[in-house]
Order: sequence, then structure tokens, then C-alpha cells
Amino acid sequence: MQIVFIGPPGAGKGTQSTLLANYLKIPKLSTGDMLREGCDQRTDVGRQAAQYMESGRLVPDPLVEKIVLDRLSEPDCLTGYILDGFPRTLPQAANFDRWLGDQERSLSVVIEIRVSEEELLERLAERGRQDDDREIIRLRLKQYAKLTHPLIDYYEQRNLLQVINGVGTTDAIFNHLQQIVDRVG
Ligand code: AMP
Repeated sequence: MQIVFIGPPGAGKGTQSTLLANYLKIPKLSTGDMLREGCDQRTDVGRQAAQYMESGRLVPDPLVEKIVLDRLSEPDCLTGYILDGFPRTLPQAANFDRWLGDQERSLSVVIEIRVSEEELLERLAERGRQDDDREIIRLRLKQYAKLTHPLIDYYEQRNLLQVINGVGTTDAIFNHLQQIVDRVG
């Protein structure tokens, strides 16, 4: 199965996509992790991405597309994969679709973990972070609303979208997720 996760920062995408990857025994690719690794190892991409990531902005599309599509071309992704954090803009989604078409592959399902902005801000306040961090997280939420949220319509129009309520226990949310993938697969 080829699965994409969409959801705002703090929705629990990372946790749920990791659980699902273990359940389905397919690799999970997190673009955030890949970019952070690039930063730590001071690769060219990492160096270019660092300034954007530190300020809470999205990294330019071509940089992210290159690392994801290279990774998806590796043999362990042939039987399926879970994407956590990609695509995150409409141009990324369109280029990804083109790439999938070229490979004669397609997505199985796109999972949106839906959490209201009020709930996210509450979670954020509970974490008791410093003001600087809060400002960055607010910017990330704004970027999500402006650049990533349009993907929900994009995938709904392609009949790929499944929505999960992201408020609840990890177990309850994962249960719902399992039901969805069992139905799709
Ligand atoms: P994440 O761990 O998914 O929250 O990602 C951390 C940061 O990496 C984001 O705030 C962005 O700066 C960058 N990033 C991750 N995925 C993407 C993407 N698909 N497009 C652009 N920037 C991304």
C-alpha cells in the first residue's frame, strides 16, 4: 500500500504513521526526519534546508521532492510505503502524481488526521514551551493552513481522502486507522 498522511503539526501524524508502518510492515518516510538528518550530516540539501526549518517555514519544493523521490525509488519501497510530511504543497502533490504516473504506480489512500486549531493551541499551551518556540509553532500552523490544507480538497476530488478524528487516545485513533487500511487494502 502507498499511504500519505496529512495533518497539522501536533496532530499525532508521527506516532500514528509509525504504528501503521509496523502493522503493515512497510517503510515509513518522514521528510522532516530526512531533512533533519541532512542538516546533522551537513549534506548540501541539509545545509540549504536548515535556514527554512529553523524559522518554521517550509523548505522549497524542489529540495524536498528530490530527496523523497530518490528514497521512494529504493527497492524497499516497491511493496509500499507511508509518507509522513510529504506532499505538503499543491505543487509537491502535482509533481508527485506525475512521478507516480511515470512509474505506473498510484496512491492507495490519503489519511487526514483532523484536529481543530483550538485543540492544537491548547496542546501547545500545555507543553509549556518558550515564547520563541511558540512563535515558530504558530508560524508552522499558519503555513499548514495556507499551503498544506488545500491538499485535502485535492485528494478528496481524487477520491483518495479518509479523515480520522485526531482527538482521543493513541489506541482509539490507531484502531480507527486500522479499520480504514483494512478496508482499503
Ligand atoms: P516535520 O518533522 O514533518 O514537522 O517537518 C519539520 C520541518 O521540515 C518543517 O517545518 C519544514 O521546514 C520541513 N519539511 C518537512 N517536510 C516538508 C515538505 N514536504 N515540504 C517542505 N518542507 C518540509
